[in-house]
This record gives sequence, structure tokens and C-alpha cells, in this order.
Amino acid sequence: MIELRGAPAAESLLQQARERLQNLPFVPHLHVVRLGEDPASVSYVRLKDRKAREIGLKSTVHVLPEESSQADLLVLIEHLNQDQDAHGILVQLPLPRHIDAQTVIETINPLKDVDGFHPENVGKLWLGQEALLPCTPAGILALCDHHQIQLSGKQVVIVGRSNIVGKPLAALMLSRDATVTIAHSRTLNLSEVTRRADVLVAAVGRPGTITPEMVKPGAVVLDVGVNRLEGKLVGDVAPEVQEVAGALTPVPGGIGPMTVANLMLNTVLAAERQR
Ligand code: NDP
Repeated sequence: MIELRGAPAAESLLQQARERLQNLPFVPHLHVVRLGEDPASVSYVRLKDRKAREIGLKSTVHVLPEESSQADLLVLIEHLNQDQDAHGILVQLPLPRHIDAQTVIETINPLKDVDGFHPENVGKLWLGQEALLPCTPAGILALCDHHQIQLSGKQVVIVGRSNIVGKPLAALMLSRDATVTIAHSRTLNLSEVTRRADVLVAAVGRPGTITPEMVKPGAVVLDVGVNRLEGKLVGDVAPEVQEVAGALTPVPGGIGPMTVANLMLNTVLAAERQR
């Protein structure tokens, strides 16, 4: 079984970002907005801020109290939309319940939408037009490329249909000529579906969802899940899958670093397009 580590693949994305940065006459500025003190969000935002500075971007984190109103948040986004020194805007999800995430996403200028969640970017992705791509799906593709995993003509099964992972990943896999199936909580005979996969992606958010009997021997298994179990980070794929899979991403250290690296690249790409 080959372990598909994210670090080397992430490094080549970061290298690409650094090289493009050299050709810009200004330093792109990433603005990350966080509401409240959810520990996972605090740690993700810290990671993004640190990585941005590390590769030579400017980075500002805006922290608003959890009880801030939606109107306050939208005012900040509008301000950043107008700010010439804001090239990338990211609002860390999930947001508190009293805020409508979709309205927030739709308020971000699509040219600055480095998460790639704005409907304009989503639509362009499906139409095959130039867009800012969502970081995790684009990172998954970059990981496959780095490890020379062939996608064209392959059966790719994605378990999970969220707007941030499953659906956009399906569009990207399709753009690489894979035959794509999306499964979800209502899929009947899930193991029958997953056993068809040459490349199986788990993006569910539940440890142990993918068990060995659900995997075709030799398949590539990409574990997107990040779950906290007994104080440890684990994915959606049961450890025993190692015995069956041909290649598998570790958690942590697989898809996670790709997401952050792709955010850095997106910030540089957004800055280039705003010139
Ligand atoms: P969501 O909760 O938005 O979506 C989960 C999906 O899994 C849904 O489509 C749901 O189906 C499906 N599902 C739930 N239970 C089952 C089941 N028993 N069988 C089949 N499908 C099921 O999650 P996200 O897409 O936001 O995230 C998924 C995981 O990926 C999480 O662990 C998250 O932390 C992680 N993640 C990791 C990232 C990284 O950088 N490594 C980045 C983003 C997310 P239905 O639609 O029917 O409810």
C-alpha cells in the first residue's frame, strides 16, 4: 500500500505560488474573517495566517465576537470588497446559527473569493471556465497529479455531496475525464457502489464510514474526513482499509495540507486577476 502524503504535493503548490508572487509588482493580501472562538476554526485560521506569512503574502485575521450580527459581518465584507489592498477574502465556516452562510458567501466579490464558494465561481467551475476553485477539491486533484494517479477513464466514487467538497470535486474529476458517481446518506447499497471505484473519495465527517469490504482491492482511497476521536484526529476511512487499498491518504497529513496550500495559490491567482 502506497501512502499518499500531502506534504510533498503541497510543497509543489506552494512553490508555484512563490514563483508567481515574484512576478507581481505588489504583495497580495489575504484577509480571513473569523466569528467566535470555535476551537477548530481558531486552529484552521491560525494555520492559514501562518502559512500565508511563511510564503511571503500579507495576511490579516479579522476576529468578530460570536454574537456579531449578520449586518456587521456584511459591512466588513463590503469594506474588504472595496479595499484595493484586499486581494483574497475568506470567511471561516461554519458560522454561528443566526448568520446565513449563503448570504455571506454571495456578498464576497467573486474575484476575491479565494474559497471558491461564490455561485459565480461554482457556475464557472461546472462550465469549465476560468474560476477560483474551492481549495479542498483542487488540492485533491493536485495530490492525484503529484502522485501520478490517472483519472481519465477511471471510475471515481465520491461519498459526500457537500457544496465545499463532494459536488465541486465531482466537477473537477469530470473535467479530467473520470466517470463520476456521487454517493450520500440516502444511497442504497453503498458498498456495492463504492466497490466499483478505482478512486474512492470519502468526504463524510464520520470515522470508520469506509470499511475494507467497501473497497475494491488495489483502489486509490482519498480520505478527506477530519474527525476528533478520543483526542486524536482520524479520517472517514477505517484503518483496516490499508490491507485492501493500493494507495491511501493519511489523516492527518494527507488532504489537509493540500487545502491550505491551494488557498495560498488561490490568493496569488486572485491578485493576478485583479491587476
Ligand atoms: P458535510 O457534513 O457538509 O457533508 C457530509 C456528506 O456526507 C453529506 O453529503 C452526507 O449525505 C454524507 N453522509 C453522511 N453520512 C453518510 C453515510 N453514512 N453514508 C454516506 N454518506 C453519508 O461535510 P463536508 O463535506 O463539509 O466535510 C466532510 C468531511 O471532510 C468532514 O470530516 C470535514 O471535517 C472534512 N473536511 C476536510 C477538509 C480538509 O482540508 N481535509 C476540508 C473540508 C472538509 P447527505 O447529503 O445525504 O446528508
